Parts: sequence; structure tokens; C-alpha cells
Amino acid sequence: MQDQNKEQPNNNTSENKPRRDRPERPRRSQNPHRKPKTNTPIQNGNKKENPKEIDGNVIATDKEVNGNTKEAKKPSNHKRPNPNQNKSHKTNPNKPNHNKKNNKSGGGRRPKKFVPGPMSEAMKASLKENEEVNDLRMNPWKQIEIDNKNKVRFTPLGGLGEIGGNMAVMEDEDSAFIIDVGMSFPDETMHGVDILVPDFSYLHAIKSKIKAVIITHAHEDHIGAVPYLFKELKFPIYGTPLALAMIENKFQEHGLMDDVKLFNYVTKRKQYEVGGFKIEWMHNTHSIIDACSLAIESKAGTMIHTADFKVDHTPIDNQTMDLQRFAHYGAKGVLCLFSDSTNSHNPGATKSEAVVGKTFDTLFDLAKGRVIMSTFSSNTHRIYQAMERGIAAGRKICVIGRSMERNIETTRRLGYVDIPDKNFIEAHEVPKYPEDQILVVTTGSQGEAMAALSRMAMNEHRHIKLKPSDTIIISAHAIPGNEGSVSSLMNKLVKAGVTVRYKDFENIHVSGHASQEEQKLILRLVQPKFFLPVHGEYNHIHKHSKTAIACGVDSRNILLMSDGDQIEITTKYLKKVKTVKTGKSYIDNQNNQEIKSDVVEDRQKLSLDGVVNIAVQINKESKKVIGKAVISTHGLVPDKEDKRFAHEIENIIETFLLNAEDKQISSPKAIQDELRSIVRKYIVRTKRRYPIITPVVFMA
Ligand SMILES: [Zn+2]
Repeated sequence: MQDQNKEQPNNNTSENKPRRDRPERPRRSQNPHRKPKTNTPIQNGNKKENPKEIDGNVIATDKEVNGNTKEAKKPSNHKRPNPNQNKSHKTNPNKPNHNKKNNKSGGGRRPKKFVPGPMSEAMKASLKENEEVNDLRMNPWKQIEIDNKNKVRFTPLGGLGEIGGNMAVMEDEDSAFIIDVGMSFPDETMHGVDILVPDFSYLHAIKSKIKAVIITHAHEDHIGAVPYLFKELKFPIYGTPLALAMIENKFQEHGLMDDVKLFNYVTKRKQYEVGGFKIEWMHNTHSIIDACSLAIESKAGTMIHTADFKVDHTPIDNQTMDLQRFAHYGAKGVLCLFSDSTNSHNPGATKSEAVVGKTFDTLFDLAKGRVIMSTFSSNTHRIYQAMERGIAAGRKICVIGRSMERNIETTRRLGYVDIPDKNFIEAHEVPKYPEDQILVVTTGSQGEAMAALSRMAMNEHRHIKLKPSDTIIISAHAIPGNEGSVSSLMNKLVKAGVTVRYKDFENIHVSGHASQEEQKLILRLVQPKFFLPVHGEYNHIHKHSKTAIACGVDSRNILLMSDGDQIEITTKYLKKVKTVKTGKSYIDNQNNQEIKSDVVEDRQKLSLDGVVNIAVQINKESKKVIGKAVISTHGLVPDKEDKRFAHEIENIIETFLLNAEDKQISSPKAIQDELRSIVRKYIVRTKRRYPIITPVVFMA
């Protein structure tokens, strides 16, 4: 923009001539201190999405900034009083003059009124200069060259309108990269489905452009679907050591170890060229170590993607969020910010991970027998804090649960957790030690039926039998959707007579996501032109947009996205250009195979409405049933009514055959279709149910 100013023809008077070495201040309608006219961000389908309108607004403003000197030079009156205006205000007959009244009561001479002297040129210049500096400080994006014609497109393919399953694509004309490939969990209607992975159709469509997969951190909702993607499409994959180590563990399970050669271990604060982009990983603080935000330099401008984060000023490893880099990019001018909306309804700031350690101090002091601690297996710092306290209290550590064992081993191997081998014991060794010398760290904080803690609660665990002297610490919250299973776990634990430490202790768990004050900090450090809230359901991103508006982002420069929306970002506008296919594939964890959607739909039907099986032999000539039809139902009628129902269906078949036209009974297939149709109609009419109907017809 500075360069652009130099090229602009200058109609200004000599007094108001803008200094060449700094950008113009905006006209009043663009004043960032003014409240925006509307505080509703642009939404899909909203008329305001019209690119011309958005485009027009921004262009018009920029043009006018350069052309309309008078308007631009007027100081905004609510910020700084104009001495001339003061004069006229004084003599305004419509305004009550309080001084007069006071004078009357005083009865004496009017006190001499303060009359400001004329403003010196130096003061005027100083005010103007400060105003310009403030304007650029608060709107650093104005440094972005506005005539840049380059376009970048961003397409979320998972993680919007839902929690988890994060995946997105960023692309320019010639290249593209994928940000995270996460999984999510099914709801209770998806029978036999263990995990959901995003639909990769769009990635197939643009595969020749894709240069890399970029990983922000090692949570399952960001890396869980990588093996499934790599079974279809392979790309170089970039991430921090822990994220790639966790993906390597998955590749081992899926027989993809050959693909480890595609790994690129990144160093934070270093830029990596990926197609037309330069990407830097910036350290952040989250509920997993080695998590990063991204600074993405594109031909259109710089973009910051926070990924999942919170701002923990006292993290366990003392590695604070790299706010300096956010400020660095912010000061240079950021075109678009993408930021984590998970906790956007939470006022204040999310507490530091360190507060959980203090709670553990209390709980370990209170515990007289064994301590059994359960948390998310990826939360290394949480686990480490418990282990440290266990060791300090003279306890041996027993790790139980496949993912917990694997994650602790991985983080120890990478040197993130420094606890010597001598402190660990195997599960079968637990009974050999006195109760107050045992700390069990286990999976199952979400009440997962197959996890170790649930099995202990059910008295089904081979080595750990719960005793009334045990203290169970559940250092987690129920992820939405898991409330029922967590509650059922609690019931079992309480029945088992153990001491359960859960929500009664406020700081037994803290979130890994930013609350409003942290979201504001990032918005203010980056102060972007455009804002795209990510990671969350619609209400989360909507709330986050309000926070952004309060932090000076123009409401017209915010878009609320859904999965599949393709957003075009240029220096001038932000708009949705199309919708691409999205969805979920169902995965059975027993064999790591996909379950096709029609199979899941059949299971849903079976679970809701049951099944009717019909086997019948038919004489085509006589149009009669040979022998007796075999009819059985499951999940539709009670056993004692089975016979009566079967008889009704037999009658329907006989009536149909008697009245059937020749073409309706031309083949077993034709009869099956007819039978399915008439039996369905009958059941819908009499029972208001839609069971699966499977007629098998033999012709004689
Ligand atoms: Zn995360």
C-alpha cells in the first residue's frame, strides 16, 4: 500500500499533502475505532456475500482514502475535539449554558472563560503523525499491497459444524496442501462404527496439485485419519517430531511403514516451501506437547492458522506459546487469521496446566491406599505431573491401557518425559507392593467400555481388583457425546466402594483450548484484515466472530464457514465461491476397514424397525403357493404374535398371486419386488413401521 500511495496522482493541497513514507489514514467510515454499522458477519447465503458488494466496499474505501482529501483529513470528532468546533459550541443558543445559571446565583462578574490558544503547527503535525502511527499500528494489514491479483482458496473438509475430524485444504493456482487429517467419533445410530474419517473425494479431484500434508499436532482429531488417506493417496507429510512419531505408530499398525520415508520433521521458526507457499510452525500451548500454529506466506498475503491452542504462560515444560512470532507476522500485516473456536463461549482465560498439579498435590496427600489416575492418553504433561507426584510419594508407576502405554513410551523415547525405568512396574507386580506405594495410570476416562478403567470397575481386569481403600482420580471432562458412558462408569466405581475424585475438585482438569481473553490476545497480536473462525460447531464460530468484531475486525471481513465451503481470499475480498463434496467414511476398528454407508443404513433400519423374511415356492401356472410359505420376523412383532402375523402375510401373498397379471409373476425377481412392495404397504398401514423385507421366491 505504501508503494501504491507513491503512484497515486495527488490532488491534495500542500498543507494536507500526505507524507510519502507512511500510508494514508482511512476515511471516517473505515475508522477502526468506530463501531461497525452491522455486527453480523457475512454468512453463507446472505446477500452480503455478493463479491461485488464486498469488493466494492473495500475498493471504494481505498480509492477514497487516496482521492478524498477533505474527508480523509477531518479528525474524528469523538476522539479529539476540534478547537474551532469548541468555539461554535460555546455560542450555540440551543445548548443550555450552565455557566450562566451559576453566575446568576453568584451574582458577580462572569469568571474568565478558558479560551484555548491557537494550535501550533508543530502540535498539529504531531497529532497527525500520532494518528497515522496509531492507525497503522491498529491496522497493520494496510501494508498489504492491495493491487495484488493473486487468489488463495481455503476449503474445510472437516471440523466445522462439528467437533473433531479436522481437515482443510489451502490452494493457489498451481499448488495445494492439506492441513491435518483428523478422525471423529460416531453417534449411537452408527452401529458397529468405531471411528469416522473425512471424505477424500475432493483430494482425489485435485491430487496433482497437492504438494504436502501439514500436521499441526498429534491429537487424534488432527492425525487419526492419516493412515486411511495414505491407503488412497500419498504425499510428503510435514510435522513436529511427536506428531510424526504418533503417525508412525499408526503406520505400523496399518502396514504402511514404507511411507515413513515421506516424513519431513520440521523445526519451529523455520520456513518450509510447499508449492507456492512458505509455511512456518510456531510453538503453541495445548493439551498435547509439540503442538503448533502455522504462519503461511502466500502470493496473496500472509495467513495465520492457530490450530488448537490455549495461551499457557506457565506450561509444565516452560515452553510458552511463541507469541513473539504472532506479533512479528502481525506487525508485517496479516491478510487472514484462522483461529480455534472450541471454547469461544468461555469468558476469561483458560487456566494453566500447572493448576492441575496443585490439585494432584492435595489428592495424593489425601490418598491412603493405591492411586489410580485416568486421563487422555495424549496429555503427556498431565500424566507426567501425576507420575512426578507418585514418585515423590514413594509410589511405583504401573501404566495400563494400550494407547497410554504406547504414548508414554513414545514421549519417553523422544525425551519429552524423563522418568527412569526403575520407577515403572508391570501390572502383575502391583499386588506385591503395599497399597500406598502404587500409582496406576490408565486409560478409560471417557467411560469407554473396553478401556482398562471400565474393566476394573466391572471387576473384569486381570490384575487390578478395586478395593475400598483405592482413590480413583479422573482428570478429564466428558467429551460431548460421552456424558452417558462417563456417568455409567461413575456409577460402577461408586458401587465398587472406592473414593472417586472427579468434578468436586475444580482444577482436577483444565481445557486445552483458548477462552475469550486468549482469543482476543491472538486477534490483537495478529490484527488481521480477514477472519475465519475454525474448529467448532456453528454456535462456536459465531461467538468467536463477535469477539473478533470487538477486537477491531470489520464484520464484513468475517465469514462463517461450513465443511465443504470453498472460500476465495484475495487482498480485496473474502467470498464463498463453491461447495465441494464432504462427508464421512465409517471405519470398523477391529479390522481397520471401511464399512459402506448402505451397510450402516441397513443396521439403522434393523435396529429401528426389524426384519421380515419370506421364503415361498410358487407354481406359475396355477398361481398358487406350493406347500407353505416360511415367514419369520425379528424386531417387529412379539414372539407370541409371530404365528398370527405369518398367517396374515400368507393371505396377502395368496391374494396377490390370484390377481397378479402375467408380467408381475414373469420371474422370481419380479415376484420378489412385488411381494416386498405389498408387504411393506401392509406393515406401514397396520404397524407404522418400515422393516427390512427379504422375500425369496422359488418358481415351479
Ligand atoms: Zn488438539
